[in-house]
Amino acid sequence: MTQLDVKGEVFAPNHPDFDRMVLGAMFNQVDPGRRPALMVRPKQVEDIIRTVLFAREQGLRISICSGGHSWSANHLRPGSILLDMSYFDAYEIDRDQMIARAGPAIGGSVLLTKLMGQGLFFPAGHCKGVCIGGYLLQGGFAWHGRKLGMACESVLGLDIVTADGRLVHASATENPDLYWAARGAGGGFFGIVVRFHLRIYPRPRYGGMLVHGFSMKHLEHVFHWAHEVGPEVPNTVEFQLLASQRAMNLFGPGIEAVAAIFADTKEELADAQAFMRKSPVKNKAFIRTGYWNMPISLMYRFAMSHYPEKHHWGVDNMWTHASAESLIPHLRKIADTMPPPPTHMLWLNWHPPVRQSSMAFSVEDNIYIALYGGWKHAADTPRYGNWARDRMQEMAHLSTGIQLADEGLHKRTDRFLSDAHYQKMDGIRLQRDPGQLFHEWHSRPV
Ligand SMILES: Cc1cc2nc3c(=O)[nH]c(=O)nc-3n(C[C@H](O)[C@H](O)[C@H](O)COP(=O)(O)OP(=O)(O)OC[C@H]3O[C@@H](n4cnc5c(N)ncnc54)[C@H](O)[C@@H]3O)c2cc1C
Repeated sequence: MTQLDVKGEVFAPNHPDFDRMVLGAMFNQVDPGRRPALMVRPKQVEDIIRTVLFAREQGLRISICSGGHSWSANHLRPGSILLDMSYFDAYEIDRDQMIARAGPAIGGSVLLTKLMGQGLFFPAGHCKGVCIGGYLLQGGFAWHGRKLGMACESVLGLDIVTADGRLVHASATENPDLYWAARGAGGGFFGIVVRFHLRIYPRPRYGGMLVHGFSMKHLEHVFHWAHEVGPEVPNTVEFQLLASQRAMNLFGPGIEAVAAIFADTKEELADAQAFMRKSPVKNKAFIRTGYWNMPISLMYRFAMSHYPEKHHWGVDNMWTHASAESLIPHLRKIADTMPPPPTHMLWLNWHPPVRQSSMAFSVEDNIYIALYGGWKHAADTPRYGNWARDRMQEMAHLSTGIQLADEGLHKRTDRFLSDAHYQKMDGIRLQRDPGQLFHEWHSRPV
């Protein structure tokens, strides 16, 4: 086979639109300069199988893009055929079995909105545009995620094209090694997921938010409180602190303390709000909203206001359980050096339960801190591009690892799997992809 014969589209570097096609799928406008050898947009599973066999014959590797929301453009690798999965966005909802089957290129928000319209729920991510392909492989911080778990814990099975060009099903009982790896490998997964089988849930009766806004001068008080109250916050609440130079997209430098709540009963809803109502720093807030039951579209609008499109981004993150005293001086420096909006810092109160499922995902901690440097013009990249990386590097001694959702592994590495899970992952990779058809992560700790 010297020519790739598929029903989908094939773009070679000499195509006049090659660059536009390759970069077009990316949320992050930073051009990493890397280009694939070929880009293929498959229309059917047979196209993917043919592409895998073709790549092997030609000595090329495979990289994959579903929604293009990898901050580090993990899918752009030289010497690779880039599989753009955009056509794999079909889904079906099986109410009787409480299962959804969905292609990797469906937006999580699209699936969740459809489900909620039918009184159902899935722990999808917080922003529109993020597709379930990359999202579920890396773990998945979700709406209602503290109660329902990392989103990958709701993956019951996957249909995968493997490095030897076969379509297989992976679940707890079939190809369990692939099933284990696919829930946490993120951008280092060694197969092409063509469909997910997902556990779905009844829609919670209440969903909404409550916000307290603080000036940045209160940073020390606010984060001391957040650190202290964190363990008590019920798992019906995603408690986040968002610091930026334009609090709530309206005011000056400040911190939004947000309680995003999903609850099934009135009592649960009241419990969820109690820590905000009793907050010892609430009188320092310049604005306090009551709890507001919101349609999910509004919750998405709130989240998206921090991540505008057509921007350049440099992000990094860490898990930690360090003391408030050791963290706060770094948070102050982050605030003092923070570039203009949409750049922001997220502090997510996590405090995970002991996980029941055996899956690759294995690094998490009480607090998640992520920095999102965002700027409009490419000319500002030298100025702002490494801000997130540099601030995280300074705090690396306080970190217990990173989360692949917001990885910047092309710039800085830290652990994202436990030692035992790296070892297990390497063993499965060697068996499933001995010829290294698929790429690993940009970097990993040595
Ligand atoms: C604006 C924004 C908001 C975000 N919000 C959240 C959030 O709320 N919660 C959260 O957990 N994360 C969030 N993220 C992070 C996001 O989940 C990850 O970047 C995820 O990888 C994006 O998935 P994708 O399919 O859109 O991206 P892609 O860039 O297409 O995929 C990322 C990587 O996953 C692998 N991959 C993708 N599809 C497949 C496939 N079908 N088969 C095999 N491998 C595949 C590839 O290695 C690829 O490079 C956000 C990111 C952005 C930019």
